[in-house]
Amino acid sequence: MRCPKCDMTDDKVIETRVSREGDAIRRRRLCTNCNYRFTTYETIIPADIHVVKRDGRREEFQPNKLRDGIRMACWKRSIDEATIDSVVADITTRLSLLPQNEVESQYIGELVMKLLKKIDEVAYVRFASVYRHFQDADAFIDEVQNMQAENKAAEPESDNSKEAPVNETGQDGKTA
Ligand SMILES: [Zn+2]
Repeated sequence: MRCPKCDMTDDKVIETRVSREGDAIRRRRLCTNCNYRFTTYETIIPADIHVVKRDGRREEFQPNKLRDGIRMACWKRSIDEATIDSVVADITTRLSLLPQNEVESQYIGELVMKLLKKIDEVAYVRFASVYRHFQDADAFIDEVQNMQAENKAAEPESDNSKEAPVNETGQDGKTA
């Protein structure tokens, strides 16, 4: 795995955790070149599941993108990564069990709200209010990413920057 800090590919796994349901694995890695620690996540991607967005566009279901959205709703709440991972794993499993291979983005949004409600009221309200406004999880993620970019620009010295959600899916979320 390439180190996000120094770009070398020499790392060693220092911790491996399997989710309670056994459908996701997190690995804590240490770059042997620069000692940077980072986390990778492994889950089953349901074969050929496509998300139908509100405007009719379809895209492949991306668990990482889903995780970004949930992590943003949980921002600065005391919800650990393992809990967020379990929500993503739960939703991924549910989608893989559906008889059809297409699912509306609203359906995923409703699932997220249902699960978040049990975990953290604030994260739920945050996700629900923004999600219901946009009616599309992708639009929500784009909006929160924009807000965070603005916050970052406003307070570059913020010591909470390490807790800010990281956009692992790259730039494609912003180009839409
Ligand atoms: Zn490194």
